[in-house]
Amino acid sequence: MLELSAVVAAYGAVRAVDGVSMAVPAGTLTAVLGANGAGKTSLLRTISGLVTPRSGSIRFDDTDIAGVAPDRIARMGLVHVPEHGGVITELTVRENLRLGGLWRRDKADRAAALGEVLDLFPPLAVRLAAQASTLSGGERQMLAIGRALMSRPRMLLLDEPSLGLAPLVTAQIMRVLRRLREDRGLTVLLVEQNARSALSVAEHAYVLALGRVVVDAPAHSITAEALHDVYLGAT
Ligand code: ATP
Repeated sequence: MLELSAVVAAYGAVRAVDGVSMAVPAGTLTAVLGANGAGKTSLLRTISGLVTPRSGSIRFDDTDIAGVAPDRIARMGLVHVPEHGGVITELTVRENLRLGGLWRRDKADRAAALGEVLDLFPPLAVRLAAQASTLSGGERQMLAIGRALMSRPRMLLLDEPSLGLAPLVTAQIMRVLRRLREDRGLTVLLVEQNARSALSVAEHAYVLALGRVVVDAPAHSITAEALHDVYLGAT
């Protein structure tokens, strides 16, 4: 569904993404792991159009989306949930969710999507009227993912959904990701520093170091030792 070939993205002289090739088949959950500054966020921003690649190709469903505007990419069904979620804290939970469904004209369809999101994230159902600023970190992350789901995406790009969350909440979020893949066939590219959580739900994983892919392997075959070496710069 998503295929990158030799993608390069840079900020001035810093090549944050340095020739990355990867493939994410439809209906799968793929993890991108790596230490701080490895280029994970830059990779997602390049895929979703927020950063224009210097070279390489990015194909989403056989359309080349390199250099395409972010709103057009999102309307194609490829939706980015940024680090910290990008929730609008001044709005209520319901208003944030509504924003995610604005593009969908069919009212009944929007109501159905809201029902599905609340079913996936029961804590949001009881906080619909609450201002998003009053939510816990875990609830905010649920809201961010829920808002993305309101547009009925075909693929989600998730940037560190476990950041700053307690292990139990992280596990809850990972279970929802697994359910979305299993029940709805949603395709997910999940960026995480929390390798253990990501590998527990992913089928395949890529590990980045200094903007390059240094491991490309089935998730179950990636050992703690291999990650340790990569994170400490031994690979
Ligand atoms: P983190 O987990 O800390 O977010 P990351 O793996 O997502 O790390 P990036 O944030 O993509 O890594 O950063 C990759 C490289 O690009 C780093 O060297 C970083 O300093 C640099 N970088 C990121 N954003 C910018 C920017 N806006 N301007 C200049 N350099 C940047």
